[in-house]
Amino acid sequence: MDFNLAPDIEAYRIAVRAFVAEHIIPVESDRSAYDEHDNIGLDRLAELRAKVKAAGLWAPQMPKELGGLGFDQVGMAPAYEEMNRSIFGPVCFNCAAPDDGNMYILNRIGTPDQKQRWLQPIVDGSVRSAFVMTEPSPGSGSDPSMMLTRAEPVGNARWRVNGLKWFITGAEEATHFILMAKTSDDSRKGLTAFMFHKDQPGWRIVRRIPIMGPEEHGGHCEIEFENLEIDDRDRLMEVGDGLKLTQIRLGTARLTHCMRWLGLAKRSMEIAIEYAERREGFGVRLSDRETIQTMLGDLAYKIEIGRLLTMKAAWKLAAGDFARKEVSMAKIHVADTLHEAVDTAIQINGARGYSKDTPLEWIYRYARQARLVDGASEVHKMVLARFYQQERNDFWTWGV
Ligand SMILES: Cc1cc2nc3c(=O)[nH]c(=O)nc-3n(C[C@H](O)[C@H](O)[C@H](O)COP(=O)(O)OP(=O)(O)OC[C@H]3O[C@@H](n4cnc5c(N)ncnc54)[C@H](O)[C@@H]3O)c2cc1C
Repeated sequence: MDFNLAPDIEAYRIAVRAFVAEHIIPVESDRSAYDEHDNIGLDRLAELRAKVKAAGLWAPQMPKELGGLGFDQVGMAPAYEEMNRSIFGPVCFNCAAPDDGNMYILNRIGTPDQKQRWLQPIVDGSVRSAFVMTEPSPGSGSDPSMMLTRAEPVGNARWRVNGLKWFITGAEEATHFILMAKTSDDSRKGLTAFMFHKDQPGWRIVRRIPIMGPEEHGGHCEIEFENLEIDDRDRLMEVGDGLKLTQIRLGTARLTHCMRWLGLAKRSMEIAIEYAERREGFGVRLSDRETIQTMLGDLAYKIEIGRLLTMKAAWKLAAGDFARKEVSMAKIHVADTLHEAVDTAIQINGARGYSKDTPLEWIYRYARQARLVDGASEVHKMVLARFYQQERNDFWTWGV
């Protein structure tokens, strides 16, 4: 068993770490750099993205022939962790959701024509994208088989889409959309995936949903389809392969959340230790108190468990496995660890932790979505229980 990183992955990780410290943390510390939704303003983002490209650090997860660096999930894990030392990090490297997952799936399953038209502009950073799946009740949420949005074939190799979606991240800024719609009542093969462009008629943003946390660029939107027409050449994979596409996309997309959240959890600890080492009370430095040390030790080992779960899942995904158990375990654990890390860091910082003088309150509000997005923790536990019911003690194995 070898836990070492390959030299090129380690070199990239170190370069990302230095870039975040030198260029991104100063922007994060400057409140004037924030937009009205608590994200980095688009002008400052454009400057940083240009610097990332000039430094040769852009899009590590994409193949070299498309303009990326060609790392697989094992290479992405340590790099994404470094990027999200800053709340603004991943988007500067073109490694933020949902573009990241959308690029991944288009690269995996797109035809050469689809890659050229739909994928390449996202890789280049000239457009943003969205993934359109979830519907308000009684439509599909945790259970995709409840989807109500329909795509029906019309003449001339075209499809017509009607329905309602919500919580579509980035919809107000996106140009390229991946849409999941129902094409038959078959429980396994009833969904199909399509691409559409923001300028196509037949859809509209009903509202940008107000949320508790800071927002991605383009917000989280409710969107309605009324006779959106899509050409059949913009169908992804075969008719009925929508669920399969979602599973391929979500395996890696969920895990990249874990990679990034580990970075935020580590940053929370960093802010906690920095304060604990300089703050004294009752004649004792906070960091010399056993209660505080127990808090820090607790977080340190939970973050390491998260890193191990994430790296094992990354390694399986890179080998072509769906890694469903591994991704679910990582997602549950890292989401909980992120909550605990930022909550503890706020506690150690006292009133300062509750202020906007550090990014802790930002991370705290953001963290609440981690147990919901890309599968609520309860759904991942249900998946694990199903595996356990089938496999019993063989649930835990090593490959040979
Ligand atoms: C910030 C944010 C961004 C998002 N971005 C996108 C996006 O870009 N595109 C997109 O399509 N969707 C997006 N979503 C939607 C997200 O994927 C769904 O919220 C998620 O799949 C859960 O679906 P739901 O909200 O309908 O919850 P429901 O299915 O209504 O479930 C509600 C709750 O019930 C419980 N529950 C559900 N099933 C089970 C079970 N089997 N066992 C036990 N308990 C269960 C869980 O506690 C769950 O939280 C986003 C959501 C958020 C919060």
